[in-house]
Amino acid sequence: MYSPLPDHPTTHDPQAPAQGLDKEEALLRLLEGHWRYLHNETVTAQLSSADRTLHSEGQFPFVAVLGCADSRVSPELIFDQGQGDLFVVRVAGNIVGSGELASIEYAVEHLGVRLVMVLGHDQCGAVKAATENADIHGPIGYLVREIAPAIALARALPGDLLANSIDENIRHSVNQLIDGSEALARRIECGDVRLIGVRYSLKTGDAEILHTRG
Ligand SMILES: [Zn+2]
Repeated sequence: MYSPLPDHPTTHDPQAPAQGLDKEEALLRLLEGHWRYLHNETVTAQLSSADRTLHSEGQFPFVAVLGCADSRVSPELIFDQGQGDLFVVRVAGNIVGSGELASIEYAVEHLGVRLVMVLGHDQCGAVKAATENADIHGPIGYLVREIAPAIALARALPGDLLANSIDENIRHSVNQLIDGSEALARRIECGDVRLIGVRYSLKTGDAEILHTRG
């Protein structure tokens, strides 16, 4: 595991158009925004009518995010990015269903996104529920069943079950995106796209990269 946070402030103009960034440029821009967030130096601008006019002409996000729906884990805030920068799919437990998979593939294949991020977080309520209540029925039961494979792997590990389950669930979603999307897998294989699994800490605000593919 490593956390490649830049040890320097922003070196690129965060307001510059993000269209056409490759995976390395996208990651740097994302991490620079996170640096600003951690150091209380956010620059995300208020939207003007001119901005809205520009955005109405098209979208050019540079990162596709599959994140947990938790209200405290807003990707645009954590990474100090503006409207139009991130293509965000959020669902409790950052699980990969068919809608999430299709959305991420759309971002890569049709919007030209070259960095994909699975964004989980510590103290995740969805994962916690899955560790405690395997027999929940109804719609929430769907979430629990989707997270269950990660819980099963975590139970074999030493240490804290919830913390291990959260990390395994992030890894599981990373693998499911690759397994479920031939287009994404092909682009990762050829080095065109990078997929990262990240765990956000509610208390410290740190976003740690746990897994990297491509
Ligand atoms: Zn969560």
